[in-house]
Amino acid sequence: MNKQTKTVHTKSALPDAYGALNMPVYHSAAFGFPNAKSMADAFAGRTDSPTYSRVSNPTVTFFEKRVKELSGAQNVFAFNSGMAAICCTMMALTASGKNIVTSAHLFGNTVSLLKNTLGRFGVETRFVDLLDIEAVANAIDENTACVFLEIITNPQLEVVDLQCLSTVAHQKNVPLVADTTIIPFTQFCACDFGVDIEVVSSTKYISGGATSLGGLVIDYGHFPQLYRSLKFELLYNIGSYMTPQVAFMQTNGIETLDLRYRIQAGNALALAKKLTQVPEVKRVNYNGLSDNKYHDVATRQFGGTYGAMFTIDLEDKQKCFDLIDNLRLIHRATNLFDSKSLAIHPASTIFAAFAGSQRRAMDVRDTTIRFSIGMESVDDLFDDIIQAIRK
Ligand SMILES: *Cc1c(COP(=O)(O)O)cnc(C)c1O
Repeated sequence: MNKQTKTVHTKSALPDAYGALNMPVYHSAAFGFPNAKSMADAFAGRTDSPTYSRVSNPTVTFFEKRVKELSGAQNVFAFNSGMAAICCTMMALTASGKNIVTSAHLFGNTVSLLKNTLGRFGVETRFVDLLDIEAVANAIDENTACVFLEIITNPQLEVVDLQCLSTVAHQKNVPLVADTTIIPFTQFCACDFGVDIEVVSSTKYISGGATSLGGLVIDYGHFPQLYRSLKFELLYNIGSYMTPQVAFMQTNGIETLDLRYRIQAGNALALAKKLTQVPEVKRVNYNGLSDNKYHDVATRQFGGTYGAMFTIDLEDKQKCFDLIDNLRLIHRATNLFDSKSLAIHPASTIFAAFAGSQRRAMDVRDTTIRFSIGMESVDDLFDDIIQAIRK
């Protein structure tokens, strides 16, 4: 079946009592069994019958199945936020004395999770320049649990050649874990480029109009420790499984994911191009522009689309604040890939907790505004930015 057909025709494991065409929301903490034997089988993982919604729920399982069919993964786990998915993945792969090799150019909370939270439990994080393959090879040793990266860093928009990176990781039998939030799995098959495990904030493109928080672990089955640990230990012990209401919303979100992504990525490209012509805009950073440093590698990996986020630089911080204050249509908000366009000044918000010197090391500039582009008309978005700059 074609992907677009699969997207709307996922079959549930059991026929619905009323023939419901949408997977119902099974709003129940626990599930009953006909006898002791079937209960024992379910608890041992010999059957898929749901037991308790901290670890399994039919509505969430259906959402996971839809992601599994579309990504081609072996296992999919849904969590109640992107951070929960990242945290549980790292807890499954690491232990005290192990290390993670990654870049300092990561989502801020992920940096803090690795450095502060996991650091307290004896996991070391080695921040290297992932664009420097030799530095990566040197950082990996026998205690390396994984190499972790974001496929397009935020807000720097750097793109690593995944094939090169995975070759280095696999030479040392280390899994390559990628946060693929920024390009959805309907557009880009990470496994084809050597990624072993994907983590995704489904809060973003997948939720469908920013309805709900969610996270996914998409596991291609190359490192079985991940499945065992998530399925039989962490889901039970951590309690951050997706809730059925959210799974319902995000299951429906996936039905329009590819459509929304194409419109939003197309809008981002058109708008970024128009903004390069505006004299007040000193720089437009978007992988879709042909003079962007990462244009070729991004084109090769992401099938000619570049996501729906870009940044612009103005002369100074005050001009950034003025532009943001003067916006009439574009919302002043964090988050990414809502159907509505959003603007934020990363240095004073998402990265405000970092010292100025740390921000400079991460290339998070005071002169940068980040835009997440929605489904509006490009002309309306452009007019809004221009009136905001010139007011
Ligand atoms: C938003 C985001 C996260 C965190 O996801 P939540 O769903 O907000 O917990 C992680 N990584 C990236 C790249 C993100 O954009």
